[in-house]
Amino acid sequence: MTRVLRTRAELRAALADTPRPIGLVPTMGWLHEGHRSLMRRAREADATTVVTIFVNPRQFGDPADLAKYPRSEARDLAICEEERVDLVWAPPVEEVYPPGFDTTVSVGQVASPLEGSARPGHFDGVATVVAILFALVGAEHAYFGQKDAQQVMVIRQMARDLALPTAVIACPTVREPDGLALSSRNVHLTAEQRAAAPVLHRALAAGREAWEHGERSAATIRERMRAVLAGEPLADVDYVSVADGRTLRELDTIDGPALLSLAVRFGPTRLIDNEVLEVDPTEA
Ligand code: AMP
Repeated sequence: MTRVLRTRAELRAALADTPRPIGLVPTMGWLHEGHRSLMRRAREADATTVVTIFVNPRQFGDPADLAKYPRSEARDLAICEEERVDLVWAPPVEEVYPPGFDTTVSVGQVASPLEGSARPGHFDGVATVVAILFALVGAEHAYFGQKDAQQVMVIRQMARDLALPTAVIACPTVREPDGLALSSRNVHLTAEQRAAAPVLHRALAAGREAWEHGERSAATIRERMRAVLAGEPLADVDYVSVADGRTLRELDTIDGPALLSLAVRFGPTRLIDNEVLEVDPTEA
């Protein structure tokens, strides 16, 4: 049976006598196969699985984006039950940010480009809420999706710098059969936009293919990805990035691990995706 908890006090009480290790899966709800994959990883590795469902207002710059974020707690709880999650913490906003709350966790360089510059304040909101969740749950492990690659880097940096004892584990991106990365935001796509959206994955695949064929110019790889995106009239490109996989600085030459990443709008819906290029140890 999945237990649903609302307050900090209920969460603390439930965690006091729960078997360890604890695996934490932070989410904003509207759960899908991507979230389920994180819950399964936790269930395999941990004695207690804790899922949090909280649409974090601090990580939304645009109030309209927050207002239209899809929500269905009944559906989410049924999914947690199916995945045999032990505890769900689904708090109201004031349990996460009680009156008088006045702290922001702000990560430096890895939080500044890409999503950080496209969505000012976004990663402050993410780092702050994840710090609170890590403190409240005290999990041995926390699971995040590689779909949000920069988010994983920001949380790792925060956990390391603040000496938080929770290990941050990145899990592979779960995709639809046509390559589109699962996202709660996909529900906003019209049928036409949905049909166009796999262009993100095709663009990333073209970038990877060029790299696999020996291309090392980041500009050329960006161009390859842009050319694929340009073939889809509904795709309104926000950014196309070839960045250092450790620092997220834009690269001239790919001479180590790199992150290909994209943000593309389809009407009002903004989708992101990425592909990691690992160095072949025989090449490095
Ligand atoms: P969200 O509810 O969108 O904040 O996502 C909660 C967690 O699920 C984050 O760690 C995401 O990176 C992860 N996630 C979202 N979509 C996917 C996906 N398609 N595959 C794997 N993980 C995902």
